[in-house]
Amino acid sequence: MFKLMELPFKEDALEPYISAETISYHYGKHHKGYVDKTNELIAGTEFQDLTLEEVIEQTHNYPDRQALYNNAGQVYNHNVYWQSIGIGERLNDDMKKKIESDLGGTDALKKELADKAMAVFGSGWVWLAEGKGGKLEVLTTKNGDTPLVLGYKPIFNMDVWEHAYYLDYQNRRKDYAEVFAAQLLKL
Ligand code: MN
Repeated sequence: MFKLMELPFKEDALEPYISAETISYHYGKHHKGYVDKTNELIAGTEFQDLTLEEVIEQTHNYPDRQALYNNAGQVYNHNVYWQSIGIGERLNDDMKKKIESDLGGTDALKKELADKAMAVFGSGWVWLAEGKGGKLEVLTTKNGDTPLVLGYKPIFNMDVWEHAYYLDYQNRRKDYAEVFAAQLLKL
């Protein structure tokens, strides 16, 4: 059984950038819903004692396990999302140096994150992740997909499903993405 992680900040902590109402739905309904559905799908199966990462790896590319893959992936992706946010918190100096050398610095990274957010058609995620060779990359995934199954180590992400921003920004994903990169990411 998986537990809904604790939200590492108060629901109104991200105002005025993201409202308490959005966080309440996003965390309390959407994220919780993925946890509940995952638990329902693993109950009494060979998956019930695995870690979340193992469930994702062992359901990836199995059409008959698609529902579990989607829900477990979304649990994982949201776990990363809440931990990506940190008002006033910053990445450590080593990561900053890596961002400088691999991606041209934090300003260039913020722009790339916002640009890639616009390149996702429909629902998905934008990630900062470390590739197999150790190089940092900005990449996108669709729906509940996660870079874990592509051999990447995720550093942080940005949720670009509409439920992440619609109450506050309506269809203006670019505004949300720019604010998220500039004000909310630990960057
Ligand atoms: Mn979400």
